[in-house]
Amino acid sequence: MTDPAQARGPIPLVDLGIQTREILAPAMAAIHEVLESGSFVLGPAVRRFEEEYAAFCDVDHCVGVANGTDAVELALRAAEVGRGDEVIVPANTFVATAEAVVRTGADLVLADCDDDGLIDVSRVADRLTNRTRAVVGVDLYGQVAPFDLLAEAVGDRVVLVEDAAQAQGATRHGRPAGSFGLAAGTSFYPGKNLGAAGDAGAVTTDDPVVADRVRALRNHGGVNRYEHRVVGGNSRLDSIQAVFLSLKLPHLKEWNEQRDRAAESYRTLLSSVPGVRTPRTAPGNTHVWHLYVVRVPDRDRVLAALNAAGIGAGIHYPMPVHLLPAFAHLGHGPGSFPVAERLAEEIMSLPLFPGITGGQVERVVDELRGMLAPDPGRDRT
Ligand SMILES: *Cc1c(COP(=O)(O)O)cnc(C)c1O
Repeated sequence: MTDPAQARGPIPLVDLGIQTREILAPAMAAIHEVLESGSFVLGPAVRRFEEEYAAFCDVDHCVGVANGTDAVELALRAAEVGRGDEVIVPANTFVATAEAVVRTGADLVLADCDDDGLIDVSRVADRLTNRTRAVVGVDLYGQVAPFDLLAEAVGDRVVLVEDAAQAQGATRHGRPAGSFGLAAGTSFYPGKNLGAAGDAGAVTTDDPVVADRVRALRNHGGVNRYEHRVVGGNSRLDSIQAVFLSLKLPHLKEWNEQRDRAAESYRTLLSSVPGVRTPRTAPGNTHVWHLYVVRVPDRDRVLAALNAAGIGAGIHYPMPVHLLPAFAHLGHGPGSFPVAERLAEEIMSLPLFPGITGGQVERVVDELRGMLAPDPGRDRT
């Protein structure tokens, strides 16, 4: 298991080369075929992937779009969310979730998260008003948000939308990510668990009307050429991304299992490192470890030391949405969402990707142990 040479060199946060090499030959052939077909945008390759991904998520419809940000926006717009509505989003998420809401014209309302980093259902209940139209649950770090509990808390009047960008292959009470709420938006950005060779995304839903609306919105408001039923835009998926994704999809289960084995090694090895809190899988969930996020004391020093030792640890995300300059207009300051703020100060993502070796995981843990050990020589005054 241990490859000493690999374990000694730099260890990136994510190494996509391992996945790409597994499908490289068939991918080149499939891309060649697309080039010869002359069908570059939408077309049969996109339809094939949409069918495969709908089946994977156990939903009736998948509509390929240009990226995950568009996917969440178009899912909301297809749910008829817009000006005058309020949409609740967790305060700690990738900024795209918040952008997607703002781009619909709706007012963004933030809610604090729980210790797992998932939206805190009791905080959502506090933020409900008679203008609340939707809640976006984010499947952060690789596990599904508590949609069943959200549904109980918000009632029938409020639409649930899933941001499934970080959880391809995860389940909650046996249901796959991408199948929760009225519709889900997902991203196939290269670094996601299912990543394209560029930008790509999709909306998945059981609702035929929502699917049809997204098909129109992604392509200038219509499905057929020169048909413009609504003001849409261009968020089409292209054939090269679709064939690449179709080739990767059959590997996803095995790649997620490799992530799970690495996460299990981290959990076991880190249990003997004082001060490190390892992530939890919430009850009812299976986790696909898009990111392996630990909490450590003195995070900035520890992170800098790991990076200096060649270990590509990172922070997801360094600032909750309400403290970002782009969202200053919401009028929240420090202290508004204490759980999200505390997470942002303590979290650190450790290298984790399909193909990471046992030796690499051990080396990350050894470095971390050294950095957290009390150092008798260090000046503490
Ligand atoms: C990556 C990501 C997105 C956006 O996806 P893009 O394809 O980069 O537009 C949205 N939400 C979450 C939680 C993400 O991680």
